[in-house]
Amino acid sequence: MFYKIIIKSTLFFFILLLNLNANEIKSLKLEEIADGIYVHIGKHENFYEEENIGDIANIGFIIGDDSIAVIDTGGSHQIGEALRLAIKKISKKPIKYVINTHGHQDHIFGNTAFVSEGATIYGHYNLKKFLKERGSQYVRQITEAGDKVKGTSIIFPHKIIATTSSDETKKISDEITIDLGNRKLLLTSHPTSHTYADATVYDFKTKTFFVGDLVQDERTPTMDGLTKEWIKLLSKIDKVDYKIMVPGHGNIQTDNSALKKTQKYLQVLYDDVIDALKKDISAEKVIEIAAESEKNNWILFDRVNPGNVVRTFMRYEWEY
Ligand SMILES: [Zn+2]
Repeated sequence: MFYKIIIKSTLFFFILLLNLNANEIKSLKLEEIADGIYVHIGKHENFYEEENIGDIANIGFIIGDDSIAVIDTGGSHQIGEALRLAIKKISKKPIKYVINTHGHQDHIFGNTAFVSEGATIYGHYNLKKFLKERGSQYVRQITEAGDKVKGTSIIFPHKIIATTSSDETKKISDEITIDLGNRKLLLTSHPTSHTYADATVYDFKTKTFFVGDLVQDERTPTMDGLTKEWIKLLSKIDKVDYKIMVPGHGNIQTDNSALKKTQKYLQVLYDDVIDALKKDISAEKVIEIAAESEKNNWILFDRVNPGNVVRTFMRYEWEY
């Protein structure tokens, strides 16, 4: 009888432990891609479907002598918290900066995890406007995803990536430099391309370039801005002297192959839409045929491409 109670209570204790572990936020798998630079590679899954808690984008951080900068925070408070815990295991230096490369949910929703750390959140000078516009749609998605992403909310950037005149009325440049202690990072706000609020982060020490979703590998890019202008911007980005490129999704790059692949997809998308507009093909038909030749080069193509076609069609409809 006595043993039975012990076995039963031990069993109960184990079940309790298992349950505790299931609810506990696990720290994320990280890869050190350059000296003091770590990245977590997101999964190519649909946002919040089934087990997914928003772990779909590449997120990372850079450690300087005095402080740490986080670049993108993942698609939920839980992912942000997992990243924060993973950072703490590697370095006890304060997380002073969070930089959002753009406003899509999979890159910003972990911001909440870093606010209590006292981190200053940086974003493109249009990021606040972008998040205000998307706010209700994003909040609806979080609500639908339920308890697994509880606590997730939108945090507006505290500081813009731009240099302004001392009275803050004029923008002097679209760049700023932050110093993590013996380690300077160049933050740049870019013109409308993938969205109207994309920024990049460049580490001078290792020539590592975080480009957000301006470049994607494997996962189909989402065109949420201006197709033609994005193609142009990629040619400019290609000229930057980088050694390592961190795209918003997919593998770490040491050359421009993902950049070229992204650019080619956008060019095919643009050309096919313009061609259809010239031939007066109906919008329904354009959705079916535009960029179809790129289908086998990308993951989640059928989910993402139709929206890209529609947005490209609507933007350039009156130009031809
Ligand atoms: Zn993304």
